[in-house]
Amino acid sequence: MKIKSIESYILSDKLTESFYFSQWEYSERRICIVKVTSDTGHVGWGEGYGPASIIKAGIEHLVPFVIGQNPLETETIWSLMYRRTLDFSRSGVLVSSMSAIDVALWDLKGKILEQPVHLLLGGKKRNHIIPYATGMYFTKGEKLCESLSAEAKQYADLGFKAMKMKVGLGIEEDIEHVKIVRAAIGDDINLMIDSNHAYNLREAIQLAKAVEKYNIYWFEEPISPEYYGQYAELRSKTSIPIAAGECEYLRYGFQNLLQSKSVDIIQPDICATGGLTEAKRIGVLASVYGVELVPHTWGTGIAIAAAIHFISNLDFIPGRLKAPNSFIEYDRTENNLREELTTSDMNPVNGIIEISDKPGLGFELNEEALLKYSEKALSLNGV
Ligand SMILES: [Mg+2]
Repeated sequence: MKIKSIESYILSDKLTESFYFSQWEYSERRICIVKVTSDTGHVGWGEGYGPASIIKAGIEHLVPFVIGQNPLETETIWSLMYRRTLDFSRSGVLVSSMSAIDVALWDLKGKILEQPVHLLLGGKKRNHIIPYATGMYFTKGEKLCESLSAEAKQYADLGFKAMKMKVGLGIEEDIEHVKIVRAAIGDDINLMIDSNHAYNLREAIQLAKAVEKYNIYWFEEPISPEYYGQYAELRSKTSIPIAAGECEYLRYGFQNLLQSKSVDIIQPDICATGGLTEAKRIGVLASVYGVELVPHTWGTGIAIAAAIHFISNLDFIPGRLKAPNSFIEYDRTENNLREELTTSDMNPVNGIIEISDKPGLGFELNEEALLKYSEKALSLNGV
């Protein structure tokens, strides 16, 4: 059995309304996905997280080393890809290219063996997971407080048991926004905050202390990811758990984060940090340190399905009779690619997602949406 072809696509879509976080503006979606086909006619889909054009170029660089390999040998192929890139890219976007191919190979392996990816990872340790709504970004309108409150209520009405809001606009404004959102959703819903590394240590301590009274489930990326020591110091000065890791790559990056005791929760992005093969290793590493893992999840239904299968296989640490909630990030910002590219049974119902036992990653890819949003198709049509 051999891998016959690898095709990558850049999908893009203009948003109807731009939104902002602490670093920049989002005005479009642009995502690189990859299709791997075996000589048996089976197909697997993967996705890379990061700048789509660079991920696509990286995939094209890796194609000659992957074509002709046995698609069931996911670890062997991972090693081949890593050996061809580590001299230039032991972290960064080329690892996202590897990740995209690796995720596609797991989907392909599942389709060939007619088994769900969670089973191939070692088994399903939970039947459902809890999606937390990611939203409450900044908009240009003058009524941000009102819109944040309305958005939070909307997620609560939809049954979400947890949600994450953006901070990083300025400490006083952040405090006001957190207060408004907590008041809108009441005390029973978990609320996380994410500054996307907007603050220095002094500011992060100030904000954390000011919002502790609003029962914050975690404070994500309070500080720039380079400053492991500052993360550790912040942890010692607030009761709010600290989360980070969406900017880390491979098990080696997470070893830095874990050894320095910087965080309570690590957040590898499966489509950036080395795919499912490496995420599984990072999960083992987190278990060695006794640190929680909740993946960063963004993009299309491919990335979401990969995260669902991965989380369903994670160990419960610690184990106990009444298991703690297992969360998955569930982006709610405008994204037609996410809504239209795939269909799956794994959607939130009453605040939970049931894990599918369908083969591979368990979604159907909508070829019409692929054509509609593919940049190649658009340019061929002269649009
Ligand atoms: Mg984040």
